[in-house]
Amino acid sequence: MKVKIYRGTHEIGGTCVELTAGNGKKLWIDLGAPLNSSNPDISYVKNRVDALLISHPHQDHHGLMENIGSEVPIFIGQLSLDLINAAKLFRAIPAFPGNFKKIEAWKAFTIADTFKVTPFLVDHSTPEAFAFLIDADNKRVFYSGDFRATGRKNILYKKLTDKPPGNIDLLLMEGTMVQRESHQYPKEDSVEQAMYHIFKEQKNSSFVVSSAQNIDRLVSVYRACKRTGKQLVIDIYTAWLLELVRKKSKNIPVMEWPEIKVYRHPGQAEKIKGSIYDTFLQRVTEHKTDNSVFTNPPGYVYFVRCPSEKLINRLKVNEIINIIYSQWEGYLMKEYEQYFTGYLNSLKADNQINFTKIHTSGHATVPDLIYFAKAIDPKIIVPIHTGYPETFKKEFEKEGIKNIILWEDGKEYEI
Ligand SMILES: [Zn+2]
Ligand SMILES: [Zn+2]
Repeated sequence: MKVKIYRGTHEIGGTCVELTAGNGKKLWIDLGAPLNSSNPDISYVKNRVDALLISHPHQDHHGLMENIGSEVPIFIGQLSLDLINAAKLFRAIPAFPGNFKKIEAWKAFTIADTFKVTPFLVDHSTPEAFAFLIDADNKRVFYSGDFRATGRKNILYKKLTDKPPGNIDLLLMEGTMVQRESHQYPKEDSVEQAMYHIFKEQKNSSFVVSSAQNIDRLVSVYRACKRTGKQLVIDIYTAWLLELVRKKSKNIPVMEWPEIKVYRHPGQAEKIKGSIYDTFLQRVTEHKTDNSVFTNPPGYVYFVRCPSEKLINRLKVNEIINIIYSQWEGYLMKEYEQYFTGYLNSLKADNQINFTKIHTSGHATVPDLIYFAKAIDPKIIVPIHTGYPETFKKEFEKEGIKNIILWEDGKEYEI
């Protein structure tokens, strides 16, 4: 089998791997959008391919999938596709009518009579993320996708490392955390605990800034609210995501739960006009926020991507407001600037605001990566989804793992 990494040997973002079997059939794993503009060449998306596999619904893994021919089958989990479409829905972008084939955890299937694929559900900062075992030409490739060992589904990491698939020829393993600062908060549980302490003492409202699609984080915030008797305010988009995730797991909070209120954002309500959303919007109206935040500001915690400037200005005449930044720090930097970057940075300098960072990564720490690699015990390991492959290799060699091979983007290797 031949393997090529179009993008990702020296970069986080834009991941795309190509497997070519002896019979010429080609399979791509992920077709992500680059996270920055340092290497804008994406001409490979026009190359011939027989099928695409998507590991999870983060932009850096699926963001370019709309560029492949409409006849090419795209294998993806139902929840992943629902989450991708939800993000489009609330931005008034039509859903991509791709040739989607639904896949499920642990259920093996064969692509183009050639590649036998087994999806493994992994713990990551999105509710559905897969690693893939791929068998073809008597070779076995394991693609880790993005994963961690410290989230609410960490049992999946334990299961996989306790009972790893055997005889792996090539492990393509993510290395995001190599040379990224490790966090003060090692686990999702520690994030919940730190928020609990802040909410318990708050004299005004708190605003948790995070991605609505990070459902683990939302659950942490919800649990901290429940323990401190606070009302958690979410927006319509977040309420909609919870509906989708709840189809898969029943212990996900929904707007009917007594600790939750929905801010009926007029712009968001406008985006989902139409009969199929009528019942949902009716429920939103029944559970929407009223004006009690202004009579009892410390009774509320907002889960948002960007706090409303109007609301902050109105509330901050009282006591200190907590802004809890709970996502990747890169989004506060110019290089990865988002629509909220400028406003959030301005809040840091405001003496009516207590700006704290409480976050744990969606990615495995270096010790967790090493333990994982030892469990899988492949013939060779190629780092991917890392800005620092050389450091990756050094760190692993220190632990006695000598079979790390560094590849180049766009070059084909025989395994
Ligand atoms: Zn990811
Ligand atoms: Zn990623």
